[in-house]
Amino acid sequence: MSPADAPARSIAVELVALTKRYAQGQPAVDSIDLRIASGSYCCLLGPSGCGKSTTLRMIAGHETVTSGDVLLEGRNITDLPAAARGTAMMFQSFALFPHLTALDNVAFSLKMKGVAKAERQARAQDLLERVAMGHLAQRKPGELSGGQQQRVALARALITQPRVLLLDEPLSALDPFLRIQMRAELRRWQKELGLTFVHVTHSQEEAMALADTMVVMNAGLIEQVGSPHEIYNRPATEFIARFMGGHNVLDTPAGKIAVRNDHMRIAPAAAADGLPARITDVEYQGTYVLLGLDAAGASGVSVMLPEAVFGERPYRLGEDVRLSWAPPHAHPLAARAA
Ligand code: ADP
Ligand code: MG
Repeated sequence: MSPADAPARSIAVELVALTKRYAQGQPAVDSIDLRIASGSYCCLLGPSGCGKSTTLRMIAGHETVTSGDVLLEGRNITDLPAAARGTAMMFQSFALFPHLTALDNVAFSLKMKGVAKAERQARAQDLLERVAMGHLAQRKPGELSGGQQQRVALARALITQPRVLLLDEPLSALDPFLRIQMRAELRRWQKELGLTFVHVTHSQEEAMALADTMVVMNAGLIEQVGSPHEIYNRPATEFIARFMGGHNVLDTPAGKIAVRNDHMRIAPAAAADGLPARITDVEYQGTYVLLGLDAAGASGVSVMLPEAVFGERPYRLGEDVRLSWAPPHAHPLAARAA
């Protein structure tokens, strides 16, 4: 990296040819390059086993690096111990100590560092105030709601004054209702604190709801980096289109394309042109009706119709139809990201 590149202070985390090989064969993380902007919410997204946690743990210093570098605000931290890096980690379902008060949970890492009791309690109280939990400092985790526990976990992670907060599937153990509430809180706190968050998830929906930048991984490689809008509207590869969902991958003479299922046009079989298909599934989803179809040369095709459109012309199970799409809605797919 040369100093002529983008100013280091605007990049919180930079990964350079970062590689982790646990055993012979395919590396778990295979020479990835990535720059994460300061103050952004970055989500590492991908299916189980693609290398997300390994990447996060190498940033945190909880996992050794086989080769390559980790830079934090331009400083090479590859060989620094976790506690000296300027990163902090928040774990699945917050991992608070159940027998300690909120205050003692937050102060815990300062206690381990030998900070005197009065000082560590004052700093922990300060942080609890910052996340609007000052009045509940003496409660134990079992006496707090899920949202309050998350704030305590956040305060506990922030007490080391990290530049970057690392979160590994922090919401995945929660029930769906709480998960949606908690992710809104995470997003709000990230913006208020102005910190860089790097959040690992296997949920496309969660990543799209949270991220400024999504990094989609597949088999140890980065497949695409972009805003949720960019990735959802212009999936670079077949893998991304299928993994994100809501897209049809279709074979055309020019190669594979992706078309969003709400951008598909459907017409009765008598229509002059279009791809012949047969309806195999009709699913009412409230605002939309989701049609499943078999089409020549494409598997698992779907069409999302607004409820009112379906209401005017209800398609039936087993009906033969024609499918088409406007050219601007067809996105060419590369076999593999560049
Ligand atoms: P993800 O978080 O995306 O599910 P991981 O980073 O945990 O993926 O794992 C990536 C790959 O590395 C997987 O094949 C996994 O089995 C392997 N792996 C992860 N941790 C270890 C380990 N400590 N020892 C050996 N292999 C591991
Ligand atoms: Mg993981």
